[in-house]
This record gives sequence, C-alpha cells and structure tokens, in this order.
Amino acid sequence: MIPDAWRREGSVVAVVGLGKSGVAATKLLAREGAHVYASDASDHPYGGAAAVELRELAGVEVDVGRHDLAKIRSAAGVVVSPGVPPDAAPLAAAREAGVPVVSEIDLGFRALAGSGTRCIAITGTNGKTTTTALVAHLLRAAGLAAEAAGNIGRPLTDIAVTGDRYQWLAVEVSSFQLHDSPHFAPEIGILTNLAPDHLDRYASVDAYYHDKQLLFSNARARDVWVLNGDDPAALELPGSAPGRRVLFSLRRPAGGWYDAAARRLRLGEGELLPRDELRLLGDHNVANALAAALAVREAGLAPAAIAQGLRSFRALPHRLEPVREVGGVLWINDSKATNIASTVVAVEAMDRPFVLLLGGRHKGEPYTRLAPLLAGKCRLVIAFGEAGAIVAQDLGGKVPLERGTTFADVVARARRAAQPGDVVLLSPACSSYDMFKNYEERGALFRQLVEQM
Ligand code: ADP
Repeated sequence: MIPDAWRREGSVVAVVGLGKSGVAATKLLAREGAHVYASDASDHPYGGAAAVELRELAGVEVDVGRHDLAKIRSAAGVVVSPGVPPDAAPLAAAREAGVPVVSEIDLGFRALAGSGTRCIAITGTNGKTTTTALVAHLLRAAGLAAEAAGNIGRPLTDIAVTGDRYQWLAVEVSSFQLHDSPHFAPEIGILTNLAPDHLDRYASVDAYYHDKQLLFSNARARDVWVLNGDDPAALELPGSAPGRRVLFSLRRPAGGWYDAAARRLRLGEGELLPRDELRLLGDHNVANALAAALAVREAGLAPAAIAQGLRSFRALPHRLEPVREVGGVLWINDSKATNIASTVVAVEAMDRPFVLLLGGRHKGEPYTRLAPLLAGKCRLVIAFGEAGAIVAQDLGGKVPLERGTTFADVVARARRAAQPGDVVLLSPACSSYDMFKNYEERGALFRQLVEQM
C-alpha cells in the first residue's frame, strides 16, 4: 500500500503539515513500517497536542516551528497535508530534489483500496464543502454508512488507520490536493463550477484549471461525472476523459435542474422538491443541492429519499449562515466568502436591502465587479482590514461606503446603519489573515458580537 522504497532501511518519509490529516498520515505511515519525519512551520500546529504526541511513536520524528529542508530533500517521499500550497518551501525543496510528493488524500485512498469503500469526489472553485456535506447528509439520511472526508470531515488516512468502514465517502478535494494525487480514482465526481481563484498562489488561471482537470486523470468508462451545465469552462474541463456525464442546471431542463417558473427542483422529467422546502439561501445553493442529488442518485438513492434528506439539511457555519434576527435585522455570517465570486453569489441571494461588510486581506481581484450588483440594493458597504483602502477606491462614489477600523467597530457601524427589514451580510471577498487566524475565527467573532446585541 505504500511504496517499498518508503520502508527501506535508512529511508525516511516526510509529512509536511501537522493538521489532523498530517497527524493521521504520520500514524498510517508509522504503522506501515516507515520512518517518518513530520514537520509544521507553526509552533502551534492545527493538529495540536496530537501532533506533538506523535513523538511517542516508534520511528517518528516531529518538528514543530520549522521544516528541516535538508531532511525533506533527502526523503524517499513526501506526504502533503491539505492546505499546504504546492509552492510552499518544503514542497518546492522536495520537487527540486526529485522527491515524489503525494497528497494525504492519495495516501489514504490507496490505503482504503480493497476495503469496499466507494468514493464520491467533489471539487470546483466554490461550493465544495457545502456539496460534500450535502452528499454525506443525503447518503446518511437514506440509511447508508457514509462520511464526509478530505478537506472537511475525517481525513482518509484517519479512516484507514482506525479501520472504520463506510459504504460511501464524500471526499472534498481542492486543486492543491489534486495536484499531488496520482492514484485518486473516485467512481463519481462532482465539479461544482470554475472561477478564477488563488491567483495569489497560481501563476495563471490556466495553471489552476489544469490542477482541477486532474480529477479526471484516472477516469474509467464506468465512472460518472456530475458537471455544471451552466458553466462552459466546467463542462469543457473533462475533455475526452472516459465516463458518463450528467448535468445540473439552474436555467434549463437537465439531469437535475431548477424549474424557476414552478419554483421546483427537478430530476429530469420527475419531481424532486419545492424550492421553499430547501432551507438554504441563494440559487447557488440550489445548484449545490442539484449536484449532490445527482451524485447520490447515481449511488442508488431514490428521489423520495433524496428529497427527504434535502429537507433536513441546514446551512453550514460561515456559509450564508443566518445567525440571528435583532430588531427586524437579519445578521448573516458568510465569512467563508474569501473571493469575489463567493461574495457575488451571496449578494445575489439577498432579497432584502442589506449592509455589506467587505474587506480583509486582498487577494488580487478588483472589487469593481461588485458595483453594479450593489447599486440600489446595498444600503451601505463597510470596508475594513488591509483591503479597506482598495475596496474604498474601487467602490467609493458608486455605492454608499464607510471605512471601519476594528471588527467590533465594523459591526457597530452596521448596526447603526441597518433598518428593520434589512440584512447585515458579512461576505468579505477577502481572506481573513490580516486580522484573524482564519475565516472561522472571523465568523465566530461576528456571531459573538451579534449574540451580545
Ligand atoms: P468551498 O469549499 O468550495 O470553498 P463552500 O461550500 O465552503 O465552498 O462555500 C464557500 C462560499 O462559496 C460560500 O460562502 C458561497 O458564497 C460560495 N458558494 C457556495 N456554493 C457556490 C456555488 N455553487 N457557486 C458559486 N458560489 C458558491
């Protein structure tokens, strides 16, 4: 299950990143008889105490606060955790030295081969996590043993280490992970959509799309690809890869589609669910629900069971998540919206006047694209964080705009500006790293401030 060279006397396998995936990968490798060098640049790796405890395992060396690049260069292989970008220093060093790099997902997928676990993979620019959670929820609601894995939920290597058995895994894969997953071969794959993202990390949009395309690199004729029928780039991406295509659309009849006139989600000719029974905001979430519905139908679920599961699904934290209504104002946490495309869909999902909290660490795209969508609907933009000045420059004069300082100040300004019937929407279009550890921390502070009102 792991290459023989990784077990050879004197050879070491490096694990880069000690989140829960890196921790589980280290355990799996150690169990398979490899010597492991596991490192994380942070003094406080996400894997926390578990990461440090790996030191107790035989044949495992742990480094926190640094990566020993010399060790990584001389490793027999490198396993990379999700979230570590392909150009990170330890990976660049490994590639330069010709050391094979594989993702934690690839290692876990190989470890689970032969266990009877079947995989539905979910990738795309936006909606991966929501769609992954939807797929796992629908399968479970129908009584199957299923789990969300990959970027969310349980790492694949953790499932392999514990020996837990599932009938299906819904595996969220980012472009970064696809980059290093030569063995990954899901039976069903969902491509939610494609939009420019990570331009700070990728040399070009093409390079980013190229990584996404790797989803299809092990495609077989029996595989099924669930594709966004409204997104020409996503439709084109599989090229001539083997496998059946099924499409979802918000605009026209398809395998799974939204009949806007009747406000119903449909599967082909058949009924699925009235729109109002899906408790998620925005058409983009209708698209996510349709994609998930198609995938689980391919896994054997009946439409009635799918509809039942859709009814009981609720928004995930930080993703257009209604927090609370205070004095007629609905506060919505969409902290996960870290690019313009996400903020566009959030704004499009608003059916009430709103105050928009926009800013954080700038990722490269101009904000001007938001101006026409905000005009007439947005009561006020509050620009904040490192990107505040750029937001003000791009949108100032086109929509009412204020600059905020601290996050508490931003929320207080929103509270003053919002009127009964309005929404206050945190959908910042930026990463959070200028003021927070991550978007979860930003969303949690938003929730806390709202709950204190
Ligand atoms: P990902 O895991 O791909 O980042 P999430 O499900 O976490 O996706 O959603 C992140 C954000 O992306 C959401 O807050 C929303 O603004 C936006 N989003 C979700 N689904 C879609 C979609 N189908 N199309 C466009 N944007 C979406």
